[in-house]
Amino acid sequence: MSLIVQKFGGSSVADAESIKRVAKRIVETRKAGNEVVVAVSAMGDTTDELIDLAHQVSPIPDAREMDMLLTTGERISMALLAMAIRDMGYEARSYTGSQAGMITDAQHGAARIVDVTPGRVREALDEGAIAIVAGFQGFNRDSRDITTLGRGGSDTTAVALAAALGADVCEIYTDVDGVFTADPRVVPKAHKLDRVTSEEMLELAAAGAKVLYIRAVEYARRHGVTLHVRSSFNNNEGTWVVNQVEGETVEEPIITGVAGDLSEAKITVVGVPDVPGKAAEIFTIVAKTGANIDMIVQNVSAAATGLTDISFTLPKAEGEKVLTALRAEQQETGFQSLQYDDQIGKLAVVGAGMRTSSGVSALLFRALSDAGINIEMISTSEIRISVVTRADTLPDAMRVVHTAFGLDGDTEAVVYAGTGR
Ligand code: ASP
Ligand code: MG
Repeated sequence: MSLIVQKFGGSSVADAESIKRVAKRIVETRKAGNEVVVAVSAMGDTTDELIDLAHQVSPIPDAREMDMLLTTGERISMALLAMAIRDMGYEARSYTGSQAGMITDAQHGAARIVDVTPGRVREALDEGAIAIVAGFQGFNRDSRDITTLGRGGSDTTAVALAAALGADVCEIYTDVDGVFTADPRVVPKAHKLDRVTSEEMLELAAAGAKVLYIRAVEYARRHGVTLHVRSSFNNNEGTWVVNQVEGETVEEPIITGVAGDLSEAKITVVGVPDVPGKAAEIFTIVAKTGANIDMIVQNVSAAATGLTDISFTLPKAEGEKVLTALRAEQQETGFQSLQYDDQIGKLAVVGAGMRTSSGVSALLFRALSDAGINIEMISTSEIRISVVTRADTLPDAMRVVHTAFGLDGDTEAVVYAGTGR
């Protein structure tokens, strides 16, 4: 008997019909003789709608209450799913995050899992029931409050349960057939990957690929959980996210995928005195805000003035607080001014094959320039090259780069559901 953890995203349980369809799928897995634990997201765009609603009653909603509000979304879907399964003649029990033992730190809105004690889930399985766990939520022991794991956190719930229960596989069900070479909503010629290494998946997720949430990939990698990303709309084999075995040589394409991200902004600190310690000062201020910065570029200082500009990217949602923090220390640090640009797009090409091939950057930059797309910032890691462009050119940039690296498939990719929100 295998233990399978299945995660269903919001678009797979968007309405009553979909919930019944998913219930059928879960029952089939159980019928085949497996133990089944399910992690489920809120229906459709419920979480976004609840966030919008919160902002209508409060400009800066209280973080504790926001978590109370948002966790209701998953409570709805888990209960409905359990009901639907029961009507198919199978025992199912739903559990909130805290009932399922998802213990987190106290950081509302972005809590990290510190312990998983799924005693009740294990009991349910032992009694032959299917356990349905609300994704995205946990419980902090010190504050005794409900927390959420950050947007897309149901993936992490599923992976954490799989690790704690020693599951054979963690299946992530979504509205496309697996992990694609690019988001098929933007690049219709994207094709499904049969297999991707967790290292590449981490880079893709970090670069904005929304199919898997980065913390979930990290967690899976750390705990050796095998992920299978597949469609909830058919029985096709999806994409296996595997940990690369040391010494294993596989024929790697140079580029595995292209990711795009419109959620970031750019801050430029203008006129920074080019003396030792200034970058440290600036990024200490930024770090104190808890913001998650990504690309950093420092210009050559102008000889006449001895001043330089430093630009970095960060999530738009954190822009305001970082600007405020920097402004407060402007005198002290001695920079001239701040510029904020939220109309940027970030494109990344990722591939383990990059390590052993040359000319990847040249090909990328050539493809963009042929399409008349200007590059504003560049950064690289061992297996990724990222560039910043204007936001409105990002979809085109993704398509031309996808073509340039020979990733285009023969057929159009199918997107089964979801608004891509
Ligand atoms: N419902 C939450 C969200 O939309 C969690 C999830 O979908 O994984 O972010
Ligand atoms: Mg969702």
